Amino acid sequence: ERLDETERALIARREKVLGPAYRLFYEKPLHLVRGEGVFLYDAAGEKYLDAYNNVASLGHCHPRVVEAITRQTAVLNTHTRYLHEGIIDYAETLTATFPEALSQAMFTCTGSEANDLAVRIARHVTGGTGIIATELAYHGLTSAVAEFSPSLGESVTLGPHVRTVPAPDSYRHSPDEMMEKFGRDVAAAIADLKRHGIKPAMLITDTIFSSDGIFAGPKGFLKPAVDAIHAAGGLFVADEVQPGFGRTGEAKWGFERHDVAPDMVTIGKPMGNGYPMAGIVLRPEVIADFGPRARYFNTFGGNPIAAAAGKAVLDTIRIEGLQQNALDVGQYLMDGLRSLSHASIGDVRGSGLFIGVEIVADPAAKSPDAALTTRIVNGLRERRILISASGPNANVLKIRPPLVFSRENADTLVDALGDVLKGL
Ligand code: PMP
Repeated sequence: ERLDETERALIARREKVLGPAYRLFYEKPLHLVRGEGVFLYDAAGEKYLDAYNNVASLGHCHPRVVEAITRQTAVLNTHTRYLHEGIIDYAETLTATFPEALSQAMFTCTGSEANDLAVRIARHVTGGTGIIATELAYHGLTSAVAEFSPSLGESVTLGPHVRTVPAPDSYRHSPDEMMEKFGRDVAAAIADLKRHGIKPAMLITDTIFSSDGIFAGPKGFLKPAVDAIHAAGGLFVADEVQPGFGRTGEAKWGFERHDVAPDMVTIGKPMGNGYPMAGIVLRPEVIADFGPRARYFNTFGGNPIAAAAGKAVLDTIRIEGLQQNALDVGQYLMDGLRSLSHASIGDVRGSGLFIGVEIVADPAAKSPDAALTTRIVNGLRERRILISASGPNANVLKIRPPLVFSRENADTLVDALGDVLKGL
């Protein structure tokens, strides 16, 4: 498929005015104009099945969220230094979805800001500076957070106080090894920080290891690592920006699948179904001293419109049973993907509607095939289905549809993937 005149012109205008930092997906970029439910529509009116967008988690333009935002926009939008019920109602509803110890919330506009605030708090509470993250983690774009986001590659320098550990790889390690390896690696990183005179402040992990390649199980493998950081006087921060809000089906929050107790949980992406909002849910003890001293203020974070959007999202997840749907359809979809039993599919893993499919050149050697993975992603795009790829070798299909994905949508995806693989 070639680019038409309009697309070529848009790309040229875009490059001229947005500069070189902006990237486009796909060899033939998509020009989207509208979204509804699990579908996106391009300028020519073509319909695409969205199996990738984890922001519009309730489906694109969900009427309950659109209505909540529209209504509140017409009434009042201010910051958090005036009394307003919206933020209180929302924070109460939100914290009620967490274990009792995590009973306070602070609001930001992006996941990056949430993680940036988490670092400040962790350093204040512990008096340490050391941070441990996984080898291919992404936690955000601020200078402080980029220092422990190694997936940014050579474009940023990791902080001297940062240590990285390999994400536990369930395709290449046995369940028994998985249960002890991550804890051992984190303990070694703690020892190395100490040897360099650096006191640990926190261990931070995405609880489904999205950018590391999607590793959902075995459940519980996080526990020894969390115990190790706590024993060393550091905090555990669960980054739930990707797995949170019911996506894993098995739990509202990814860390619950591992039965661990975070000190702080950072959240974002699907929190407003597209309205930009994020935040931290934490144990009150960790901000008891930081809070009054920090002069922390976020102009837009937690505004009445954000609160209305966030409340509509939580209500919709409950009313429409979306966590259960993620579990049911996620399992059905994983079964379907496994049933393709194609030599290039080395592994199908995940939880709920967060699925990784590892593409290999040789299943016995488990050798990654990035080129084939790119062909599959583009082949699905030609069949009007959107996914992407991740992992250290860019060979893991990342399947992360809106939580309203149906069994019929899952069949469409599996059939199309089968078709692409057959045509190779
Ligand atoms: N944490 C994780 C795990 C993420 O995936 C992202 C975004 N990709 C962020 C944090 C940062 O969120 P934001 O882009 O909203 O700043």
